[in-house]
Amino acid sequence: MTLLSPGRPVASLSLDLDNLWSYKKTRGDPDWVSLPSYLPVVVPRLLDVFGAAEVTATVFVVGTDADRDRDEGVLAAIPAAGHEVANHSFSHEPWLHLYEPGRLVEELARTEEALVATTGVHPTGFRGPGYSLSEPLLRELARRGYVYDASTLPTWIGPLARAYYFRSAGLSAEDRRQRSALFGSARDGLRPLAPYTWDLGTDGRLLEIPVTTAPVSRIPFHLSYVLHLYGIAPRLAWGWFDAATRLCRRTGLGPSVLLHPLDLLGADDAPGLEFFPGMTLTASAKVAVVGRALRLLRERFTLVPVGEHARRLLSAPASLSVHGPGQLPHGAEAAGRRRPPPAGARPAPPSPGAPRAPGPPG
Ligand SMILES: [Zn+2]
Repeated sequence: MTLLSPGRPVASLSLDLDNLWSYKKTRGDPDWVSLPSYLPVVVPRLLDVFGAAEVTATVFVVGTDADRDRDEGVLAAIPAAGHEVANHSFSHEPWLHLYEPGRLVEELARTEEALVATTGVHPTGFRGPGYSLSEPLLRELARRGYVYDASTLPTWIGPLARAYYFRSAGLSAEDRRQRSALFGSARDGLRPLAPYTWDLGTDGRLLEIPVTTAPVSRIPFHLSYVLHLYGIAPRLAWGWFDAATRLCRRTGLGPSVLLHPLDLLGADDAPGLEFFPGMTLTASAKVAVVGRALRLLRERFTLVPVGEHARRLLSAPASLSVHGPGQLPHGAEAAGRRRPPPAGARPAPPSPGAPRAPGPPG
């Protein structure tokens, strides 16, 4: 069966390869420093699931794991199976938007170097941990020749996710301050849903491919949300995914759909993360739901990795709206503040805005 039927919008599939240690780190669990990992379990599993569904995807890899993989050799199987490898930062800190420019360069460069060493791939796509993003980061991505960023999640539900997270995590006051933007603000629901172009002036342009939320309601429908709902009301969960993807198709929007490792792992595979939404389901139940979802996406869309989605979008650049980065945070110097748009600038887009992070998990 071909994936290239011309009548279907092009859509993309990605997985953020967040590791056990990175969840523990964001949660403030001190034993993250020993870097506990489930990658030897989840990488073969995700490749099996993608292979069974006959899909290829982008895997956003954390540089710390790529660096360690020089000894372990788990990650090379990802490009060998035809999937794209992209950059998910080195340290996986959802407060990346607070970094000084020098630290941003280090985060990107160390990850690129480790990915080349372990997978042979020099990445051209980036997604911020917890969807964190800043103007200096976009500029550095453009200067380094990246083709796309995929760090935005246009939804209004971030504060709800943050409240859930803070309630379940043992964070100090300082931890909470650092994570005060975690999962974003309600304003993120005003961000563009369709891909668009960042105009970065002398630094060039960069394509933004948002993680798609449902048209109109702007509620996420990526698999972490579907599985959380599935653990409570399976028919409702499936109905939501079916309706959201159907609405994308009707509105001509090719969604960019996101997966996380926990979408394929049971509680036994990820000790210490039992509190996460969806962790009451067994691994086999999750694999069945994800496989069904991938098959549905293939029926409705031409499903490709994010880099290929970007390439196809850039083949018709006039169809992309253009936005300046004026509403984005400006790093440590301006943390917590927003720079007003320059005089004469076009009105702020329905706006790529504040630092923010995803719903469950990041
Ligand atoms: Zn992540």
